[in-house]
Amino acid sequence: MYANIIIDISLEKLDRTFQYLIPEMLADQIHPGTPVEVPFGNGNRHMRGYVVEVTDQPEFDVSRMKSVLRVVREGIPIEGQLIALAAWMRENFGGTMNQALKTVIPVKQKTTEKEKRMIWLKPDAATAKAQLGELQRKHQTARARLMEALLKQSPLPYETVTQKLNITASVIRAMQERELIRVEHIRNWRNPLDQMKKQGNIVSLNLTQRRVADEILSGWQRSDERPCLIHGVTGSGKTEVYMEIIEQVVKSGKQAIVLIPEIALTFQTVLRFYNHFGDRVSILNSRMSAGERSDQFERAKSGLLDVMIGPRSALFTPFPNLGVIIIDEEHEAAYKSETVPRYHARETAIARAQMCGARVVLGSATPSVESYDRAKQGQYRLFEMKERVSARPLPSVYTVDLREELRNGNRSIFSDKLRELITDRLEKKEQIMLFINRRGVAGFVSCRSCGEVIKCPHCDVSLNLHNNGKLVCHYCGYEQPMVKECPSCGSPYIGGFKAGTQKIEEMVKRQFPTARVLRMDLDTTRKKGGYEEILSAFANGEADILIGTQMIVKGHDFPNVTLVGVLAADLSLHISDYRAAERTFQLLTQAAGRAGRGHRQGEVVIQTYQPEHYSVVTAAEQDYEAFFEQEIFLREMMHYPPKWHMLVIHAAGAQEMLVKQAQDVLKYKMLTQSDNEKSSLQVIGPADAAVSKVNDIYRKMLYAKAADYQKLVSIKNMLEEYIRIDPAFRNVNIQFDFDPMNG
Ligand code: ADP
Ligand code: ZN
Ligand code: ZN
Repeated sequence: MYANIIIDISLEKLDRTFQYLIPEMLADQIHPGTPVEVPFGNGNRHMRGYVVEVTDQPEFDVSRMKSVLRVVREGIPIEGQLIALAAWMRENFGGTMNQALKTVIPVKQKTTEKEKRMIWLKPDAATAKAQLGELQRKHQTARARLMEALLKQSPLPYETVTQKLNITASVIRAMQERELIRVEHIRNWRNPLDQMKKQGNIVSLNLTQRRVADEILSGWQRSDERPCLIHGVTGSGKTEVYMEIIEQVVKSGKQAIVLIPEIALTFQTVLRFYNHFGDRVSILNSRMSAGERSDQFERAKSGLLDVMIGPRSALFTPFPNLGVIIIDEEHEAAYKSETVPRYHARETAIARAQMCGARVVLGSATPSVESYDRAKQGQYRLFEMKERVSARPLPSVYTVDLREELRNGNRSIFSDKLRELITDRLEKKEQIMLFINRRGVAGFVSCRSCGEVIKCPHCDVSLNLHNNGKLVCHYCGYEQPMVKECPSCGSPYIGGFKAGTQKIEEMVKRQFPTARVLRMDLDTTRKKGGYEEILSAFANGEADILIGTQMIVKGHDFPNVTLVGVLAADLSLHISDYRAAERTFQLLTQAAGRAGRGHRQGEVVIQTYQPEHYSVVTAAEQDYEAFFEQEIFLREMMHYPPKWHMLVIHAAGAQEMLVKQAQDVLKYKMLTQSDNEKSSLQVIGPADAAVSKVNDIYRKMLYAKAADYQKLVSIKNMLEEYIRIDPAFRNVNIQFDFDPMNG
């Protein structure tokens, strides 16, 4: 066996590995991440390196290959842990080791700011004062001047001392030799929160919060290693519970990572953490420069931080002694990476925690079906927080049947009920949020008279209208011509439902000419800070109505919002994705959670073509449990995750024929070579991807389903091996996606 080893991990040399023989006696001690010593270069100097891959494929003449000398036992540094994590990700989500390493260990950036020389007072203050007296008696005025300055403030920049205090380099050297001061180089890391000021009070936990925090912590003391899931309604105070847990973890000398969907990482949230942890907390977000992000990782590694908050990638913060990983809004699709390796942050967090003895806490008002299922099975510990803090009531919800509105002659986008309530709020000077579903713009086709959606006869997902006028199933490739009338009721009002935010804005302005309206979507938030600008304008009461996509359902507290309208709740039900019902339930529940956060009771209007659909009914009743029971039953029956697992194989290439052939070959391989009891593996496809051609690159998908995740992993390994050696795959790019979040 051979080990591919990285010698210099610090720089942009991650893809530069060197191969060594693994001596027999070390064979069972060498894994990805293991630090080793190897002979290197002409003089055969001994160097430290990390194993990144163990393989049976020699890269060059074995007779010239050197051997690993020994395994370094003096503690596995954080780099070793992260390499081991990368290997785990590669195995479980596919891709190359190099792709995994680049995800986990970002290329270190050169800092733009130079190193700074700083002068520190060396003895403690009392000793220093005594020494100052002595210097003054001896009339060593320059030395005394520096001591005095350092007693007021230490450290001082070297340049300040030489230029402002007029102290020469030789005096500084002399004082260094007498151990009165020390001179140190410090890196001047950028700190994204350096303008932050503590403000407001730290709240004390209520009884429920106290109970949940205590039970989680005491479980850990009993060595219960299971991840914890907090199911708490919006506004139940989960964030305060996280902070209490982190405080205890930090007190024991460990560090914490908090994952938050980027969109919910608002000033308010950061401020709450800053109030608790001050300069020991930092954040990551996608608008920071690569250098600024890299600085935050360096601060974490150097022990300058206790808490890192950020989206998915914050998971790889190189804390030397990680104690806990918290994942807020754990159901969010943003936790799944859309680039290779297509890892899920939740699963990866659990793997990282296991490797270093840390714990995991998940939280959501609408947990993912996966997580709740695991909690019910006892794989996670489950904690319920059913009430809002200070018992603010949950809003009242009305469901409006849009088919009935149409029968009564109302063809506008506002039901009578919604129009009436909007008018009422405008009069009372209270605020309104109107929510539409961005994903609804996808090309499904429905009847506006009876609500019927045109579905694939084989797959129970909606067909998509393609530009060539055909209806296509993205799961099995079935096609038919576009229909002219509803197959169920014969109505001619049938078509793709398209209503963007801009269109809605126009209609709102026409219907309510006096209202001040803000719109938040990809267009209006594109420029830097655009997102915050709109939200703070709305928070400051500069508008009456905020219109937006799922962006507006996240994170923010607007105490003056007393009405939330969901314009077409079921749009997300018809995307061709087995998670459609789950996503709809989550969006409706989260949107409803925006209403009535202040002291006034909130109201929510859900407009829908399918008021009888269980995800609409259960969301309106805010009954998560009922939704879950129904959904998990369907997933079981349909062999969808989490009961079964799914592996999507994406193939892309410039020649459609080759892409198709590649998928056919992979399908054949799967069906013939995986040690199959036929019933436990289902292979579906190949079919065109939702967008079947981009920039003249054709894209096709193949689906495999199996009850056992590990079976899919071994199929992936088998296919990856095959793809590596078969020349037919040089012109076709293959990517694997396990349990996809965006069907
Ligand atoms: P969640 O994360 O569950 O949505 P938050 O932790 O954000 O809930 O709490 C919702 C609101 O209630 C916040 O404004 C928070 O400051 C406030 N809050 C939370 N816990 C308490 C408490 N124990 N006492 C007073 N206010 C609280
Ligand atoms: Zn189909
Ligand atoms: Zn119809």
